Amino acid sequence: ADYQTKSFDIASLPESKRSEWLPNGRVNAAFVSLARNQDLADMVQSVQRLERRFNHKYHYPWVFLNDEEFSDEFKSRINETASGHVEFGVIPKEHWCIPESVNQDMMHENWEHLKEKGILYADSESYRHMCRFESGFFYRHPLVKKYDYYWRVEPSVDFWCDVDFDPFAYMKENNKVYGFTITVTEYADTIPTLWENTRNFLKLHPNAVHPNSALNFISDNDGKTYNGCHFWTNFEIAKVDFWESDVYSQYFDYLDNTNGFFYERWGDAPVHSIAAALFTDRESIHFFNEIGYWHPSSGHCPLDEQTLTKCECNPHDSIDFSGWSCLSKYYTAFERPFPENWSTFLI
Ligand code: GDP
Ligand code: MN
Repeated sequence: ADYQTKSFDIASLPESKRSEWLPNGRVNAAFVSLARNQDLADMVQSVQRLERRFNHKYHYPWVFLNDEEFSDEFKSRINETASGHVEFGVIPKEHWCIPESVNQDMMHENWEHLKEKGILYADSESYRHMCRFESGFFYRHPLVKKYDYYWRVEPSVDFWCDVDFDPFAYMKENNKVYGFTITVTEYADTIPTLWENTRNFLKLHPNAVHPNSALNFISDNDGKTYNGCHFWTNFEIAKVDFWESDVYSQYFDYLDNTNGFFYERWGDAPVHSIAAALFTDRESIHFFNEIGYWHPSSGHCPLDEQTLTKCECNPHDSIDFSGWSCLSKYYTAFERPFPENWSTFLI
């Protein structure tokens, strides 16, 4: 085994891995959505809203992925709604299956325990395929792989503000690897051994942690335990080659070999977030504060008045002030200034 795995250093990527600007000033980037045929109506809504707030000016392409063929109706309705080129892909079976090494009796027993605890998706097999796919496989799909950056979009989301800049260009110009709008705490019952396994991986790969990592965002005791803080991955603007890096692929493989995605209910959000926090330079993680965003049950609304003139939301409704949010932890751990009027919104 290669015990010398190095953290992800965007500055030292070979020139061939660094993206060029496209002739029209755009970045080599796309929206990426995982969806089922039955998600069509909710997916169309998300596309309409993002087109209205942003993409009607840019026409970035969209990629839709599904574990089965998209219906003709799905394809034509989406094609009518998106302003950029659209491609539809099917996920290979190897990326959406229960590995042979999983003890299925034990797995089902564990799901019953999670059900008793009232955990959402406790006994859902498809949800686990989704989480594992979004953790370790989406970026290997040929339709995604050809892009340098992607913006993940789910059904039933909303964008509350006009986005009158290009977030992909921002990522590229500022050497950002990972961008988010909402950060919250994970339910500990879904990830009992995720941190223990992460620590075991780090013991084998001591150089994996970036010297300027954001460990203090995800741990309150220098790595002894995980505090559950993660970026909500249903919105995610990130660099494809971070996931393709040696450090991330080895981390994913390590986690996957424990079968924790099946025995427990590991989400792609804590997996992505732990990786981004540990393996990249903290300066390459970006909070897209000005992108007002809603995913069913919670939203982020910016606070500053200038930005709010372009938004349809009330900062009082922001998840950011609830006990579940990790945004205040983000400001302190990353040593970023709190918004001036932050305290006026604390209840
Ligand atoms: P939640 O946001 O964690 O409650 O989970 P969602 O139900 O929104 O699922 C997350 C994403 O995965 C969404 O984009 C869904 O459309 C997609 N998804 C979830 N389950 C499946 C599935 O079985 N097949 C496919 N193709 N997509 C799925
Ligand atoms: Mn969702």
